[in-house]
Amino acid sequence: MGKGPRPLSGVRGGGPAKRLISVFLRKERKKMATPKRKTSHARTAQRKAHWLGALNAPSTMMCPHCGDMTLSYRACPSCGFYKSRQALQVKSEA
Ligand SMILES: [Zn+2]
Repeated sequence: MGKGPRPLSGVRGGGPAKRLISVFLRKERKKMATPKRKTSHARTAQRKAHWLGALNAPSTMMCPHCGDMTLSYRACPSCGFYKSRQALQVKSEA
């Protein structure tokens, strides 16, 4: 036989729907690639250290309205202002 997976019996050419079904069935039959070696503890630790080192705290800024520290690109939780207008109704004020 030639190269590539053999066409499934019963599903031959046909419309786009039929072809899609054959693709799905072929994918199901395919076996997953497996790693050649196990990942050592050192390698796992190195990967984790790199990933955790890249994490940093969410960026905060001083609210221009009330001066509290707030998350940037969020309405201020203490005064409810965002982009110099009242975006949230804060309960303590109302
Ligand atoms: Zn504020």
